[in-house]
Amino acid sequence: MKVVAAVFTGKGKPLAVDEVDLRPPSRDEVLVRLEASGICRSDLSFVEGKWPAPLPIVLGHEGAGIIEAVGRDVSEGRVGEHVVLTFAPPCGRCQPCLDGRANLCVVADACMERGTMPDGTTRWSWRGRALHHLALVSSFAARVVVPSAAAIPITSRLELATASLLGCGVTTGIMSVTHRAAVRPGESVAVFGCGGVGLSSVQGARLVSAHPIIAVDPLDSKRELALRLGASHAIDPSAAEPAVAIRELTNGGVDYAFEALGSPEVGRQAFDSVRRGARPC
Ligand SMILES: [Zn+2]
Ligand SMILES: [Zn+2]
Repeated sequence: MKVVAAVFTGKGKPLAVDEVDLRPPSRDEVLVRLEASGICRSDLSFVEGKWPAPLPIVLGHEGAGIIEAVGRDVSEGRVGEHVVLTFAPPCGRCQPCLDGRANLCVVADACMERGTMPDGTTRWSWRGRALHHLALVSSFAARVVVPSAAAIPITSRLELATASLLGCGVTTGIMSVTHRAAVRPGESVAVFGCGGVGLSSVQGARLVSAHPIIAVDPLDSKRELALRLGASHAIDPSAAEPAVAIRELTNGGVDYAFEALGSPEVGRQAFDSVRRGARPC
């Protein structure tokens, strides 16, 4: 079938919004009609040439939509399911998957690197060339074919534009607090940068009853949003050196600091804001 997709062809070139040829789902795959896609900073890193990608490729890795068709090994009952796409579907057979660490699945990792489905081929083509998949998602398209395990069912009551953010930013931010750092009730947290990931970390800290939860962002609107979403304090780094302000506020520093920008300078501020003896993670 013909579907519209935004094709990335190389650093600095605008995405080409064009018709591409999409093959039907094979055995354990599903066809998803995308209703929403987020734009993550990582997508921009590909466009800016900071991260390598097999070309041409359809970017986008935060998607939500509805299953329209399934391969022969997938239950027909999945048609009509509302789903969020994940870029780390477990294969269920590799050692990390068997160890219960599906986030480290070697099959998903290889797909990410090659820009293909697990069998090493692609499901779509463009102008006679194989068109690559980004991390088994490629949400900058009207329809995609993904492994069945990459389409996570959700309630149809959840708005799909909101649900799409669960594919990367929300999960990254919340899980960094609840799983990676495993913050406990009453421990103190600082979050540097209140975009999609940082605001999710604020909410993760709130979920585990951290206190205080200090949000750091130069924008008034983002600090206000962070306070509404669970931060107890908000610091404007353009008005005060944030690490100094945080150490004063917490009698020596926070238990955990999360840097949600990808900036070496802000990373340094985050290191400087934790208390002596804090556990790195
Ligand atoms: Zn992302
Ligand atoms: Zn695996």
